[in-house]
Amino acid sequence: MTQLTYPDTLLLIDGQWRKAASGRSEPVVNPATGQVIGTFAFADQEDLEGAAQSVQKGFVAWRNISAFDRYKIMRNAASLLRERADYIATLLTMEQGKVLGEARAEVLAGADTIDWFAEEARRTYGRSIPSRSEDVLQLVVKEPIGPVAAFTPWNFPINQIVRKLAAALAAGCSIVVKAPEETPASPAELLRAFQDAGVPAGTVNLVLGDPAEISSFFITHPVIRKISFTGSTQIGKQLASLAGLHMKRTTMELGGHAPVLVFDDADIQRAAKTMCASKFRNAGQVCVSPTRFLVQEGVYSEFLDAFVEHTRTLKTGNGLDAGSNMGALANPRRIRAMEEAVQDVARRGGNIRAGGKRIGTEGNFFEPTVVSDVETSALSMNVEPFGPLAIINPFKTLDDAITEANRLPFGLASYAWCRSAKTMHDIGRRMEAGMVSINHLGLGFPETPFGGIKDSGHGSEGGTEAMEPYLTPKFITQLSNH
Ligand code: NAD
Repeated sequence: MTQLTYPDTLLLIDGQWRKAASGRSEPVVNPATGQVIGTFAFADQEDLEGAAQSVQKGFVAWRNISAFDRYKIMRNAASLLRERADYIATLLTMEQGKVLGEARAEVLAGADTIDWFAEEARRTYGRSIPSRSEDVLQLVVKEPIGPVAAFTPWNFPINQIVRKLAAALAAGCSIVVKAPEETPASPAELLRAFQDAGVPAGTVNLVLGDPAEISSFFITHPVIRKISFTGSTQIGKQLASLAGLHMKRTTMELGGHAPVLVFDDADIQRAAKTMCASKFRNAGQVCVSPTRFLVQEGVYSEFLDAFVEHTRTLKTGNGLDAGSNMGALANPRRIRAMEEAVQDVARRGGNIRAGGKRIGTEGNFFEPTVVSDVETSALSMNVEPFGPLAIINPFKTLDDAITEANRLPFGLASYAWCRSAKTMHDIGRRMEAGMVSINHLGLGFPETPFGGIKDSGHGSEGGTEAMEPYLTPKFITQLSNH
């Protein structure tokens, strides 16, 4: 098992790592052991106002750096992140619980994301529009929208920040990040890579403290021009309402409840193996985690048996242990949510096919769990489990499956397995989701759109679409002959 000293996390304001003005700090707990491993500085209003001034100063400096130089600084930050990946991944596992291999992959994917957005910085093209007079030149230029405030959760401490951070910086915006208080050290290392790569003071800022106080401070602050939030639908709606009141543009990446449609003609063994690995990645604490498995009657038993068999091979343990396939849940709230969901299934006559219980009393470990034949009104069929729970139910026809898939107010990720071209076409067209992945796991690359519809939010955090929220068009029309 890799061991290192977990650092205390400070605030990053105006290029300086600082304690809170009040001196207040709060503990960080390792979810695999329940032990306090460090602290984070808890910002008050004085610190937040300092961060607001800093992000404004950073904007003036950063927007005046050419796109080509921004590209070079960002590529440099990506290289530093890769060099430091082992160290940062270990911090991430210690504070979040996921297995080390996943943590390392997250850090390296973060570097790829920075590289991709760095390149996009050089392609923020405007356009010229044919005018009605030959003396008039009509131009559209894309300008950075201004200082950004980002609020991110604990399930992917690096990945949730880097998508916002890299897109904002590529566009020429500065950013203040409220990182997750439960997992502060790996985000701090991400920002340190940018600082060491040479961003001017104030371009990237880190605050931690009371989430509601910090979000309402920045959303209403006149300096901030753009809000980006990842978290629950409930909180997202509150923040989007407040942002609307203050005419601030928002990106909202919220909850999901991903359906997986498995048809009679699918490669059942491959579907079961692939989706089982995906379900229990990060102990299911993933907004695109496959959750409602809808399996056509003819292959229902075969899929269920194969899925349960794969689930039983998983070893749950401390994420730092080489043999662990699934780590601890990030906090005790998730254990309570899982227990409630499983008890509700049992009470309603559903079948517990694998797992279903907390493991031990030290740390937040829960068995990888499979339930089947669960009624539609069950809690877990309606509320995102956000934990290691797969629900497997049968369906008869394509129409039945699509009706169930689209039943919930969420519309983030969806998955399907089939061989018929007609079925693939229908799935692509009729799924109410921001992302549809058919016959493989193909979501979450820097170059492809990532985002939801309906209650899953709005805006994209990948692909060229992810740059637009940080840019604002300016129309310039000039008469040259006067
Ligand atoms: P929560 O809704 O209290 O918190 C989710 C995240 O939002 C946390 O990081 C929290 O610090 C932050 N947050 C909470 N209130 C905030 C506010 N007023 N302003 C700014 N940030 C705020 O719930 P939780 O117990 O941490 O997680 C529960 C649910 O949240 C999960 O079941 C899941 O549905 C959702 N969630 C979604 C994602 C995602 O990737 N979309 C990530 C984490 C949690």
